[in-house]
Amino acid sequence: MSTESKNDRLSEKLLYKKKSVFETKSRDELDKMKRFAEGYKDWLNDAKTEREATASMLSVLKAEGFREYSFGDAVKSGDKLYFNNRGKNIFAIIIGEESIDNGVRICASHIDSPRLDLKPCPIFESEGIGYFKTHYYGGIKKYQWTTIPLALHGVITRVDGSSVDVNIGEDEGDPVFCISDLLPHLAKDQVQKKLGEAFSGEGLNIMICSSPYMEDNVPVKDEGVRLNIMSILNDKYGIIESDFLSAELTAVPAGKSVDVGLDRWLIGGYGHDDRCCAYTSFRALLDCSSPKHTLIFTFADKEEVGSEGVTGMKCYALLDIIENLAASLGSNPAVVRNNSMCLSADVSAAHDPNYPEVTEKNNSAILHCGVAVAKYTGSRGKSGTNETTSEFASYIRNTFDREGVVWQMAELGKVDQGGGGTVAMYISEKNIDTIDIGVPVISMHAPFEIISKADLYEAYLAFSAFCK
Ligand code: MN
Ligand code: MN
Repeated sequence: MSTESKNDRLSEKLLYKKKSVFETKSRDELDKMKRFAEGYKDWLNDAKTEREATASMLSVLKAEGFREYSFGDAVKSGDKLYFNNRGKNIFAIIIGEESIDNGVRICASHIDSPRLDLKPCPIFESEGIGYFKTHYYGGIKKYQWTTIPLALHGVITRVDGSSVDVNIGEDEGDPVFCISDLLPHLAKDQVQKKLGEAFSGEGLNIMICSSPYMEDNVPVKDEGVRLNIMSILNDKYGIIESDFLSAELTAVPAGKSVDVGLDRWLIGGYGHDDRCCAYTSFRALLDCSSPKHTLIFTFADKEEVGSEGVTGMKCYALLDIIENLAASLGSNPAVVRNNSMCLSADVSAAHDPNYPEVTEKNNSAILHCGVAVAKYTGSRGKSGTNETTSEFASYIRNTFDREGVVWQMAELGKVDQGGGGTVAMYISEKNIDTIDIGVPVISMHAPFEIISKADLYEAYLAFSAFCK
């Protein structure tokens, strides 16, 4: 045997090398990944807000025979249940074959994404143009949200409690909306400013209307544009201006997700964070028949603003579900939690060759190298992290390797370059082993984010492996 091949063998045995799906998967499997992405792209177009995502999941769960769960309900092995938390956060549950004393398998993703929410009194007009004032939601780079087509999504609940769903800008022929930016010719002062200061939150005003209300062919002079906006909205939705006071309206990028690249291996669209993990984990749960462990998959709201509130991951709903299931099955909830495991399913930053300075190549997610597992997140000296244990990380490695999942371990970026957190810490603090896992994203939080179809599919395989 030559020295060279001996060394090859030794390095194969001793050295860790990240491999892409193109090195590890068959032609058939690669084709399967591309087919899988089509369903995801459709869902991304239909579920741009947490409410739309919840509604869409709810209808699938009902069609698949899941029934609504209420606290105190008796449950038994094989039951398929859902818990709808205010139409903005949903739990899908399958009671497993084994005793719940052995713990439950939790998967927690989020279905909210960064966007521009409307203020409670949004309308103003200036020099014949009517605007909506916004308050941005989540971490955005403000300049990215100007000069792109925007759509309005949300719900308006009138004072009598009746609600109307709003969706303008997505259907063929719909108008869209836009935030303007300065022409370069007159941007002498603007371009001198720091990027973070050149665009203000109060400046993110959306153009809504540019003509006044006409009364007998005569334009109404005083606040005529504002009146025109309300007249159009009243015709379409039956609302009056004060109904904005109890509305959840948001502007999101208009349009559909699309293939990116000549080879069509990437998907560009709004809200991959974190709907790519929500979709893949949801599909994994639906495709898992008679699991051993009880599965609780949750799709949370408010992650982008700190997981607060009744529909965020800090809400007691998850704990209450575990306690109530344990009570019905004659178990001690503390024992159940102690033996439970959780995948905190959220996206990770992909290494971007256009900006190599912010990531450390050996410890960053690379596109097409599979779903990314993060042993820890946080910032600076691992501040605000859920760092999982060596033992749980080993269990996850073993599970994924056994099931043929292509996966990679990744940090969010270079040390002291910034950082971020996920819902992981709000679950592990309940005495539940938790690890972060998700699809790597390029241009995260931009109106048009990019992911790999291969990584998306490997996330599905990883969640499926966890269900077994
Ligand atoms: Mn996220
Ligand atoms: Mn995010």
